[in-house]
Amino acid sequence: MTASNTLAGHGEFAGKTVLITGAGKGIGHATARVMAARGARVIAASRTQRDLDMLAEEIGCETLCVDLADPHATRKMAEAAQPVDLLVNNAGIVQLQPFLDTTVEAFDTTMAVNVRAAMIVAQVSARSMIERGVAGAIVNVSSISAAIGLPLHASYCASKAALDGLTRVMAVELGAHGIRANAVNPVVTLTPMAEKAWSDPSKARPMLARIPLNRFVQPEEVARTIAYLLGADSAMITGASLAVDGGFLAG
Ligand code: NAP
Repeated sequence: MTASNTLAGHGEFAGKTVLITGAGKGIGHATARVMAARGARVIAASRTQRDLDMLAEEIGCETLCVDLADPHATRKMAEAAQPVDLLVNNAGIVQLQPFLDTTVEAFDTTMAVNVRAAMIVAQVSARSMIERGVAGAIVNVSSISAAIGLPLHASYCASKAALDGLTRVMAVELGAHGIRANAVNPVVTLTPMAEKAWSDPSKARPMLARIPLNRFVQPEEVARTIAYLLGADSAMITGASLAVDGGFLAG
């Protein structure tokens, strides 16, 4: 771990500690910035130490380097992060393969990072919250892919549908302890992952045409929605899958 957040102590999340996975890039990075700016003590977990070092320099967060595909390393990381009040399971991967050629390796790795790691980190965090009597909040970063079938995204769509299902069970079982669990479901968000899946203009154009607001999402817009679901303004929302999609799923 490195230096603590210089902004902690003021703002909506003053006195709260948030663990954010996949905080090295993209949506997780934006969420770390938003939560730090709103006063939270941020613990950033990700795979590339250099990304974590740069984030720590920027916002003064603590960092944990981990490969979330490894369940034992994931559990150790989650235990080292405790005690936390808030959790954002954001880390995720996509491997594009036609359904007929989807490999067992790609499917298993995608499920391990996108679903299994989220379960393990939430178990460890929720157990600690319950022991301390903390009415915490958990946000799982899912996708519109939980609700629709996208070509080449078999493993990814399966993992995000599973993550939404996991979120609902967490909400149902943890509600008695005052702990809320929700998912956010963004459409294409302009991050390094989106470059991998959507940089080809012939793929991006028809996708864009299906978004009533006619643009892709900025990482900070997802981050602000995550902050809403972590905060007191959403005190009565749990078990939801909240689309951040410019109306895509309404069409
Ligand atoms: P990104 O730009 O690829 O960033 C993902 C972050 O997660 C990176 O810091 C990455 O670290 C980390 N990560 C990935 N695998 C990991 C592992 N095994 N162990 C530890 N850290 C790992 O992705 P993003 O676009 O911000 O996506 C964040 C979340 O939003 C994902 O769950 C994704 O499915 C979801 N989402 C994204 C979009 C989109 O269009 N971008 C849309 C809907 C939902 P390294 O780079 O070091 O591997």
